[in-house]
Amino acid sequence: MSRAFLEKSFYDGEEKKRTVALLRSIELREKISDYLEVKDSIKDGFDLQEQETISAAKERILAYFEANNKDWEDWRWQMNHRLRDSAALAGLFNLSEEQCALVRKVGMRYRWAVSPYYASLMKAHSEDPLWIQAVPSINEMDESGHSDPMAEELTSPAACITRRYPDRLIINATNQCPMYCRHCQRRRNIGEIDRHKSYQHLLAALDYIRRNKEIRDVLITGGDALLLSDRKIDWLLGELDKIAHVEIKRLGTRTIVTLPQRITAELCAVLKKHPPVYINTQFNHPREITPESKQACDRLVEAGVVLGNQAVLLKGVNNNPHVMKKLNQGLLKVRVRPYYIFQAKDVKGTRHFITSLKEGLVVMEKLRGYTSGLAVPTYIINAPGGYGKTPVLPNYVLGKAEGSVLLRTWENRVIEAVG
Ligand SMILES: *Cc1c(COP(=O)(O)O)cnc(C)c1O
Ligand code: SF4
Repeated sequence: MSRAFLEKSFYDGEEKKRTVALLRSIELREKISDYLEVKDSIKDGFDLQEQETISAAKERILAYFEANNKDWEDWRWQMNHRLRDSAALAGLFNLSEEQCALVRKVGMRYRWAVSPYYASLMKAHSEDPLWIQAVPSINEMDESGHSDPMAEELTSPAACITRRYPDRLIINATNQCPMYCRHCQRRRNIGEIDRHKSYQHLLAALDYIRRNKEIRDVLITGGDALLLSDRKIDWLLGELDKIAHVEIKRLGTRTIVTLPQRITAELCAVLKKHPPVYINTQFNHPREITPESKQACDRLVEAGVVLGNQAVLLKGVNNNPHVMKKLNQGLLKVRVRPYYIFQAKDVKGTRHFITSLKEGLVVMEKLRGYTSGLAVPTYIINAPGGYGKTPVLPNYVLGKAEGSVLLRTWENRVIEAVG
């Protein structure tokens, strides 16, 4: 039915209402026509063509390490076979000697490591959104920016603890990660030597929580919380369960994205023992959503874990409204609720990823109303000085008078409302 036809038609009563609604639905579809046009060209990890490329890469990597599928499924094998020198990278991705020298040079300044799994998702070129998150680039040698833009040192009242809020805090339980993301906002904490925090330090952290009864939410992170052993996770969650005022436990991990093999049946059995457990992860691009990461999410959900995502807004990765929409919609399909989008901070060695606030606002503008509210995370800027996460929103309130507000709706209608 053409618009012209509808407009010319004249109906009374119900039929007229139906006509108006039909016209509106045509208009609504047009609101996302730009997205519908590009949607299929933004690939995720389920795309069949992607799947073929990934399988081929996996075979190549397995052959390189003379390993098999069973090894691949084993997270410890993945950890022990992380790519961490330019020779391995060159062998697998046909890098030139010049590119290798560069990776070596930057690698001497900042550590890097990529799990074979994540490497199988990457494409070897300097604009690939996955490659640039994983492989050192010359841009990291830029010496501007801060090493500690959040003044984290001044927010640690006890060993391993960062406290920035009234009722919740972080336990930094390890400085280890499966992959050392090039955009890491906590780069300063990710030491050159892998180590977990000692029991003694963790005991001091638990003691602090025990003594501060207003703490009802404890977030275990690092580094990556799921690089702790199952036994340590079981112990730590168990100790927190014993503290009556701790209502919820959270874990911060990127393993779902970079090392989904870590989400074993054994780990899930541990997590299931300690509800309520919330896990936040960090998917930054739709291609990171793969059958393997979906399986990891499925297992966690079946263990009663509630999943959320904290993306970082990164230039060349996801600073595009369509990519971000596809990412957030894809996350809902694997039962991960988009929670935050972080504005990248001024961290030394990562400044090439920084986007403007304006770009972030465009991303947010294109989410609210245009897609499910569930797919709309909160856009956050971390206030300098460790003063906390600050939400930023496109402006929807144009004015305020006694008893009324002037609103701008998601599609830019200006309407007065009671308020
Ligand atoms: C991010 C953060 C939290 C958790 O904040 P939410 O907004 O509740 O997710 C808690 N403590 C510290 C120090 C943090 O940086
Ligand atoms: S997993 Fe998180 S903490 Fe670890 S390197 Fe990546 S961004 Fe940093």
